[in-house]
Amino acid sequence: MACPKKKTSHRKQHQRRAKWIAFMPSMSKCSNCGEPAVSHHACGACGFYNGREYVKAIQKRKKATA
Ligand SMILES: [Zn+2]
Repeated sequence: MACPKKKTSHRKQHQRRAKWIAFMPSMSKCSNCGEPAVSHHACGACGFYNGREYVKAIQKRKKATA
C-alpha cells in the first residue's frame, strides 16, 4: 500500500481544507409542478422525476417494512 514519506504539516492540511467551497446545486424547473428542483433528483414539492412519482413509492416501501 502507498505510504506517505512525510507527515502532512498543519499548514498544508489547512491549505487543502481551505479549498472546500460551498456550491449551489444546478436547479431546474420541475416538469410536473413547475417548482424549482435539483436536476437529476426527484422534485422536493411533488416527488416526481422523469414523469413518475418516486417519493410516494418510497413511502409505500417504508410502510411495507414497518
Ligand atoms: Zn414537482
